[in-house]
Amino acid sequence: MPVADVLFTGGSVFTGEGEPVSGVAVAVSDGRIVAVVPDEEAGAVTGAETRVVRLDGALLSPGFQDAHVHPVGGGVELLQCNLTEAQDAKDAVATIARYAAGNPDAEWITGGGWSMDHFPGGAPLRGLLDAVVPDRPVVVSSRDHHSVWANTAAIEAAGVDASTPDPVDGRIEREPDGFPAGTFHEGAANLFEGVRPAPDEDLAYIGLLRAQEELLAVGITGWQDAMIGSMPGLPHNLDAYVRAVREGTLRAHVVGAQWWERRQGIEQLEGMIRRREQVAALGASHRFSLDTIKFMVDGVAENGTAAMLTPYRDACGHDTDNSGLSFIAPEALREYVVAADAAGFQPHFHALGDRAVREALDAVEAAREANGHSDSRPHLAHIQVVAEEDAARFADLGAVANMQPLWATHEDQLDTLTLPFLQEGQEARQYPFGDLARGGARLAGGSDWPVSSADPIAGIHIAVTRVAPGSDHEPLGGEDQRLDLATAFAAYTSGSAYVNHREHDTGYVRPGYLANLIVVSPNPFELEPADIHTSRVVSTWIEGEPVYTADN
Ligand SMILES: [Zn+2]
Repeated sequence: MPVADVLFTGGSVFTGEGEPVSGVAVAVSDGRIVAVVPDEEAGAVTGAETRVVRLDGALLSPGFQDAHVHPVGGGVELLQCNLTEAQDAKDAVATIARYAAGNPDAEWITGGGWSMDHFPGGAPLRGLLDAVVPDRPVVVSSRDHHSVWANTAAIEAAGVDASTPDPVDGRIEREPDGFPAGTFHEGAANLFEGVRPAPDEDLAYIGLLRAQEELLAVGITGWQDAMIGSMPGLPHNLDAYVRAVREGTLRAHVVGAQWWERRQGIEQLEGMIRRREQVAALGASHRFSLDTIKFMVDGVAENGTAAMLTPYRDACGHDTDNSGLSFIAPEALREYVVAADAAGFQPHFHALGDRAVREALDAVEAAREANGHSDSRPHLAHIQVVAEEDAARFADLGAVANMQPLWATHEDQLDTLTLPFLQEGQEARQYPFGDLARGGARLAGGSDWPVSSADPIAGIHIAVTRVAPGSDHEPLGGEDQRLDLATAFAAYTSGSAYVNHREHDTGYVRPGYLANLIVVSPNPFELEPADIHTSRVVSTWIEGEPVYTADN
C-alpha cells in the first residue's frame, strides 16, 4: 500500500450510495483514492509527507456532478448585465440603468437573469427599459432563457413592428395595435440575432472559466453541458471548451450535448459525428467528450409552450385550444433518436410537459426496438409533469430521470404562472420524483444554471423536503414525492456520473476512483431535513488537489 499524499479522517463518508459510513479514513495517492480503511488503521498509509485533512465530523462525499447545466452562458451572464440578484421589477430596471451608466461604450446592453414572476403575466414591457436606456438597444434574457426583454431601440434596430408575424417556434407579446410590447418568447428572441454586434471571441472562453470557479465553489467536479452550439449573442461554446482543454484550464470533466437544430433534419447528424471525432482527437476524452445530442422536445409551462397531454386553461379556468408546442414532430423525433442511438450518441431530452415526456420515451422505445438495448443511457431533463403510467416506463427503457429538484416546490413562478393554467389535479403530477424512484428509474441531479442556482445542496434540500427553506407551504405534490437524503445525494454523485458514462472512475468513494471529493459541513445527514440547506461545501478536490476552499 503506498503512503498517502492526502488522508481524510475523522468524519463520515458518503460513498456514492446508501447511508454514510463513519470511522473510516480515505487515502489518496497520485490523484486517486487508494484505500478506505478503519480510522485506526490509517497510520499504515500515513507518512511524514502525508497531508492529513481532519474532517471534524464533516461529511466527505464524491464531488457533485451536474447532469444539466449551461456554464458558458452562466459565466458570461456574470460578466455582463447580471439581473439574477434583482429582487423585483424596480430592482431589475435599476440594475440595467446602473450597468448602462457604467458601460457608456457598449453599443448594445446585453445580459440576463430577470425573473418572470416580477412582471405581470411574466412579460415585462419595453417602456420600463425606454425610461432608463432610451438611446441604445437593450436585450436581456429571462432567468430561464426562454424569453427576452427588449427596449424600443432594439425592436427598431431589428426592424420588427406590428406587421412582423410570430415565428412558428415562438411568440411576440404585443400591444393592442400589434406593435411588440417588449417580451419575445422562445424562437421570437432570434429576431435580434442578425443585428446584434458580434460578440468578443474571448467572451465564451472567459465565461467558461468564470463558470468553472462558480461551480467548483459549490462542489461540482463534473458536468454535462446541456447545449453545445451557438447561443444567441455568443460565439460557439465548443471553441471555448476546446481552448480550455488545449490550455489545460479545464479542471472539471465535461460531457457536451450537441444541440439538435430543430429547423434542420437528419442530415445534421454527420456534422455531429465529425465534431465528436475532432474532440476525441484532442486525446483528452477523460476531460471533455462530445458524445451526447440534446433534443429540445418542448418549451416551458410558464408561457404555455410546454407540450401537455391536456389543454391549458385560461385565467378564468376554461380550456383553451393550446396544449403547448412539440418543437420536433413526434415521428421525426423517433427517427432522429433511432439514428443518434445507432451512431453511438446519448440522447438528452429537454422534456417538460407530460406530452413531451411521453414523446421522448416513445422515441427511446423506438431506438430500443431498432437497435437493441444499447449503452446510450438516454436521459430526460426537467420532467415537470409526468403521467403516472409514464413514470413507470423509465426503468424498463433504461431512461434516466434528470431532475432539477430546486424547482420542485411551491414558489411564486409555479403558483401564479403555471398551476392556475393547468388542469385540475395536475399539481400532484409536478416533478414526481417519488413515483420515479419507486418505479425503479435511475435518478440524476442537475441545476440548469443559470436558470436557477447551481448549488446542489439547495436542490437536495428541496428533493428531500419539497418545501423551500423557511416556507410554510405543503410539500409540492404530497409527501410521497419526497426522496430520502441518501437517494438525493446519490442522484447528484453516482447518478450523474452514470449519465456521463463516468461511474467507473467518478461518483463513488472507492479504491481506484479519481479523488474528486468534497467536504460538506455540517454533515447534512446529521441535520433535521428542514436544516439541510445550512450545509456548505467547505472544500472541493479534483484528482487529489484542492481546487476550492471556503474562506473560513
Ligand atoms: Zn437547460
